[in-house]
Amino acid sequence: MSVTLQPLPYPLQALEPFLSRRTLAGHHDRHEAAYIARCQTLIEKTYLEDATLEELVLESAAQDGQALFNAAAQAWNHAFYWRCMRPGGGGDADGAIAWLIKQHFGSQSSFRHQFMTIAGDQFGSGWVWLVFDDGRLKISATSNADTPLVRSQTPLLVIDVWEHAYYLDYQHRRLDYIAAFLGHLVNWDFVNQNLVQALNHPITRAGARVANPASEPATLR
Ligand code: ZN
Repeated sequence: MSVTLQPLPYPLQALEPFLSRRTLAGHHDRHEAAYIARCQTLIEKTYLEDATLEELVLESAAQDGQALFNAAAQAWNHAFYWRCMRPGGGGDADGAIAWLIKQHFGSQSSFRHQFMTIAGDQFGSGWVWLVFDDGRLKISATSNADTPLVRSQTPLLVIDVWEHAYYLDYQHRRLDYIAAFLGHLVNWDFVNQNLVQALNHPITRAGARVANPASEPATLR
């Protein structure tokens, strides 16, 4: 089984006081763990048993396998989200992404304002992303488990706006959580790494297929 729960890239208390140990413990050890366990159950003894998480997302989207897509995309989104944060992060971007943000949004404060607005307005559960799309930076919101991986977009940054991401620390004050994320948590080094990846390996619209699906089932659950 290739899909397993990966440890957080920092200790549970590392993002305090902006995200508590209690929030990260529940979020990673219960929510993300449940999505991984669900993936493992759904792919057991199928041709996808040894697929990577990214392959599961793309394959389930291509085959309209909604249950597997929800679990795999949520697991992928969470693993990406953890890496978008670090202790002592946030504030103004630096490196290449800083230049692009100025080009596309006018200024860093204008970018933060637009990101806050879209993330604050996202209705219900979902994610808000900074993506690289056809040579441009865009802020886009996705609902529930949906992810830019299944579009021709390279995700650069994401914030989880499901209530489970912030409710223990911020209750209904989602905007305070988003402000803390932008001001104190964003790992701009990771965003710059993703940008380099986007520039060096432009996404094709074909998506990835798992090699040699010898015992491909008729449908995915
Ligand atoms: Zn979450």
